[in-house]
Amino acid sequence: MPDGKSLRKIAIVGRGTAGSLAAASVTSLHPDSDYELHHIYDSRIPVIGVGEGSWPSLVQQLQQLTKLPHAAVQQRLKGTRKYGVAFEGWGRRNRDFTHYFTPQQVSYAYHLSADFMAELLHESTRAHHIDANVVNIARVEGGAEVEFEERAPERYDLVFDARGFPKELHPDHHIDISFIPTNTAVIRRCPAIVVESGEGPVLQHTYTRAVARPHGWIFVIPLTVHTSYGYIFNREVSSLDDVEADFDAFLNADGVSEFEQRAVIPFPNFVHRQIYDGAVARIGNAAAFMEPLEATAIVSAQLQIGMVLHIRLNRPVETLERDAPVVNRFLVNNMLCYGLFVGWHYSCGSQYDSEFWRNARDHVWPQHRVAADPDVVDCTALEKFDDMIELLNRPVIEKADWNRMCAVPFTSYAQMSQGLGC
Ligand SMILES: Cc1cc2nc3c(=O)[nH]c(=O)nc-3n(C[C@H](O)[C@H](O)[C@H](O)COP(=O)(O)OP(=O)(O)OC[C@H]3O[C@@H](n4cnc5c(N)ncnc54)[C@H](O)[C@@H]3O)c2cc1C
Repeated sequence: MPDGKSLRKIAIVGRGTAGSLAAASVTSLHPDSDYELHHIYDSRIPVIGVGEGSWPSLVQQLQQLTKLPHAAVQQRLKGTRKYGVAFEGWGRRNRDFTHYFTPQQVSYAYHLSADFMAELLHESTRAHHIDANVVNIARVEGGAEVEFEERAPERYDLVFDARGFPKELHPDHHIDISFIPTNTAVIRRCPAIVVESGEGPVLQHTYTRAVARPHGWIFVIPLTVHTSYGYIFNREVSSLDDVEADFDAFLNADGVSEFEQRAVIPFPNFVHRQIYDGAVARIGNAAAFMEPLEATAIVSAQLQIGMVLHIRLNRPVETLERDAPVVNRFLVNNMLCYGLFVGWHYSCGSQYDSEFWRNARDHVWPQHRVAADPDVVDCTALEKFDDMIELLNRPVIEKADWNRMCAVPFTSYAQMSQGLGC
């Protein structure tokens, strides 16, 4: 039975996708009605607002959190049903292929508008809202303290830190996973190519397109209100002007004549070494980030929030000190496995023999063995990843192995391996 006795006062700092998901999850999962939930954010600091691809677990979770039928959720999200990712021009086989969710053509996720998802989650949240700048979150005896810019500090039993990307990476605190070769996105918004007609949600099967380009790759995400395009590249390898010019050429060839320039977003690729310490849980972009090739951010936030709440609500408070490092290692390991899966997509290059792709394949990806060395990261992600690759190379794959996972199911590795030719 869930027990909320050790969770009387909870804070969530941040109102982006991660913070909003955490607030709705606490509201839904806390077994009592007389606890306090403070949802804190600084309205002067905008949310990142992109994040439009997801994994199938979100479909179930949004239904549970909102208590709305699936069809209503999808329509509120201005969403479409994502059955997988359609890769164009990736790998050494010179053919396009799709990474489907399994079971293929049955399991789907959403393409969603991040703004509308946050709005939907806020409606399912009961919290006291505090618009203030947080200057520090620190573990203290029996809980955590939040320090504000212009308010007295407050003590909580549990704090979710969802403040987005860290300002800078430090090797003592962050595992640098720049074996992923991209670090910048240019976002454009174009007219919708999938539109709602009639009463119900769009039932058409849609896919995130991931199109290899000379300077990186472009995602195409169809929502019912607009289509989102993003060019993902490395600003140390390609100039923004060259990327914009190739983006124009791509849209032109795709028959898209108008677009709204949304943002240029630099991003880090990292995993925080301390995602959960028993009293402070980093979630979302504060916990880990990697480029959006496999849409791993929202699903990571779901896992971080779910895991921490599950442990805090179901285990006795006496085991908190023992549980925390185990949960932390599990989460770090999982984020790093996502990183290895995403980085591996670059290991066979693409149809372009450009500086970006040569560098990605020959120099950047091989660094994963050093970056994820178990002695450096204190977890076994690399071993798990190597096991998946070894399994792929076996002449016969036993049924008992079909359900193995390294962050994503073995079926995902198998489809990518076939498609990429590695
Ligand atoms: C190009 C790109 C594409 C992406 N595509 C996908 C995708 O397809 N699928 C996917 O799952 N994810 C994707 N993501 C990831 C996406 O960013 C995250 O899913 C999501 O936005 C999580 O953000 P967040 O809530 O952690 O942080 P943010 O959105 O950055 O929110 C931070 C919040 O913290 C508050 N805050 C910050 N500092 C303070 C402070 N000092 N005091 C008080 N409040 C503070 C802010 O006000 C804000 O509310 C993409 C990211 C990028 C860059």
